[in-house]
Amino acid sequence: MFMGVVMANESVEYTLTVTDANQHLAQVEIRLPILEAEQIELKLPVWRTGRYEILDLSKNISEFSVENSSAEALLWRKSDKNTWLVDNTTASGVTVRYTVYANMLKQRVAHIDDTHAFIDASGVFMFSPELRQQPLTVQLAVPGQWRSRSGMESIGEHQFKAKNYDQLVDSPIESGIHEFLEFTVADRLYEIIIWGRGNHDILKLKEAIDKIDQVATDLWQDFPFNRYVYMFHVGEGLRGATEHVNSTIIQQGRFNFAPRQDLLKVLATTAHEFIHTWNVKSYRPAGIAPYDYSKENYSSLYWMVEGSTSYYDDLFLLRAGIYKPKDYFERLAQGIQAHLNKPGRLISSVAASSFDTWLNNDRQFSHNNSVSIYLEGALKSWALDREIRARSQFKYSYDDVQRQLYQRFGGSQVGYTVQDVLAIVESLTDEDIGDFWADYIEGTKELDFNELLAFYGLEKVIDEESKTDNWLGLSMTSGSMGPEVANVNRDSPAWQAGLTVGDELLALDGLRVSVEHFDDYLQQLQAGQSYPLVFFRGEQIKTINITPVINPNPNFTIRPLAKPSRNQVRVFKDWTGRSLSSVSDES
Ligand SMILES: [Zn+2]
Repeated sequence: MFMGVVMANESVEYTLTVTDANQHLAQVEIRLPILEAEQIELKLPVWRTGRYEILDLSKNISEFSVENSSAEALLWRKSDKNTWLVDNTTASGVTVRYTVYANMLKQRVAHIDDTHAFIDASGVFMFSPELRQQPLTVQLAVPGQWRSRSGMESIGEHQFKAKNYDQLVDSPIESGIHEFLEFTVADRLYEIIIWGRGNHDILKLKEAIDKIDQVATDLWQDFPFNRYVYMFHVGEGLRGATEHVNSTIIQQGRFNFAPRQDLLKVLATTAHEFIHTWNVKSYRPAGIAPYDYSKENYSSLYWMVEGSTSYYDDLFLLRAGIYKPKDYFERLAQGIQAHLNKPGRLISSVAASSFDTWLNNDRQFSHNNSVSIYLEGALKSWALDREIRARSQFKYSYDDVQRQLYQRFGGSQVGYTVQDVLAIVESLTDEDIGDFWADYIEGTKELDFNELLAFYGLEKVIDEESKTDNWLGLSMTSGSMGPEVANVNRDSPAWQAGLTVGDELLALDGLRVSVEHFDDYLQQLQAGQSYPLVFFRGEQIKTINITPVINPNPNFTIRPLAKPSRNQVRVFKDWTGRSLSSVSDES
């Protein structure tokens, strides 16, 4: 046990030396300011912030050693997969050394090669739990022409300081040769760093970041930072992004930045990560505040963390004037369509799926038995927004909930609870929304999209042709042997016929099946009539009969109502910052 005395201002000193860039190897040295401790614990997180999945990052550690200030080796042993116990530590400090293998680029953990080093401390720098609140410094030994940047304050070339370990793990470092731009908006400094070559235009990113800042000002009226760093990794096969306290790491394919429709997806991600600066980095649910780095952090509110952020990312782009209304309506229609095509929505609530977000489910099983905290959370956020607007006679909205969460919990280590959210909503509406919460958040009651859209002055228009589309309820992919079933919807014709994931489709009604033209072929058939389907399951060839039905969820578009009421006009304006009457002119 730790029984030492540590001076509050004594820093933990981290040094990382790239020892073999080709093999993704670095040596880490940590000097701990420990006094008179009999035993200390060193831990590496088992997950990294922003990715709610156990990654067992200590698998990348080797050659651990530890010595005291007289350079005498100290005894140590591991007590579990991510904990090292060091005995007989003495009065004058301890130095820990180990090798780290940094080759987790796509997980945005750590990546070292001959062009750069990306370091999220979760996978690289150990910590002593007793010293978690100590200030610290980080020094990198990297090639001379590289530049190192991070959300942390720079205190020298390749050198940073942080107030504690929590800031360190939430401030990744990007070191290398980059495209770089810095600019200010109001009194805030923004930096854009791009590693990799692609079809991006850094000035277009700047322009969008500038506009997104304005929308954030309108919503929260305050910023938890005065400097923010956008880090981009651009490369083949890269996707996804992670939020951090005053920085983000966004990974994109090389050619994702044009044409406009592709760029809009990048910008939605950019807005998403930025919104997280408040929603999850500044205030977050109890259960993930403070972070426990050694195990899963449970909460039934992950849908507010990810789903509400997803709800706002598209809305931010619309409010910022980056989306035209029709871009927004398209995203919304796609989201509703994907929701309706997911049988899991009838089985699992968004609260239950939030709690289980750490489980890595089989794709088809989760498609049929759970919901996405992102998509479902966004739709439920939208419905909650409607609820607050309606019940407060249009005075308040979900924006006010976000603002109050920031005012009450921002920057603290105390997480908000379901009761806190309910109390905030009740203070805005003078009504108990327990019924809504039970039905739609903790329950699986179906949302009425016609009613929801109408509230905001919109309607859905079913695509005429799609009304008679045939449907089987399966999706396909190109497997190694040819067309393969990727997913089957519970209770669909494909499900009832006995098809499952991995079945290799050969022929339907006597003709070869291809992934590319399967849907065209399907539309040639008669709904309600049975057709022979030949496929391989493993080694065995099988023939079954399958009966297409008319698609229960035909495609649709969303448009403004032709004759909106005064309230609908008002809600749309409050919601988007746009006037409903001008929407059709902007298409
Ligand atoms: Zn997110």
